[in-house]
Amino acid sequence: MSCIFCEIAAGRIPARKLFEDDQVMAFHDVSPQAPTHVLVIPKAHIPDLDAVTAGHGTLLGELLLAARKAAAQTGLYGGYRVVVNRGADGGQSVGHLHLHVLGGRPLAWPPG
Ligand code: 5GP
Ligand code: ZN
Repeated sequence: MSCIFCEIAAGRIPARKLFEDDQVMAFHDVSPQAPTHVLVIPKAHIPDLDAVTAGHGTLLGELLLAARKAAAQTGLYGGYRVVVNRGADGGQSVGHLHLHVLGGRPLAWPPG
């Protein structure tokens, strides 16, 4: 079973990478929905938020810290939004857990 974000994490599919460490990676979304649109993923394959367990607690913290770091590195000083889509109704299209970091313009609320 191939997973596009596992392939990106492994470097087998190119992406505009911001940074990575042994656990997480941040890269620009190929179809940005805002002037800045970064994706933060765990390098390990986790299908979605519902697959997360209490044992992933440290990793979840690392993902949020990476989202904050991505916002800082891309200069989102006016603010930004971190989103996790889960399932069809949540708008999830890639089955590998990821955080969207969006900014660079005022973001409407509630989202569509
Ligand atoms: P979701 O809809 O699952 O919450 O978000 C998936 C995101 O992954 C979408 O915003 C989509 O544009 C992005 N995406 C899908 N395939 C690729 C890819 O191959 N490279 C990059 N950089 N982003 C991708
Ligand atoms: Zn994966």
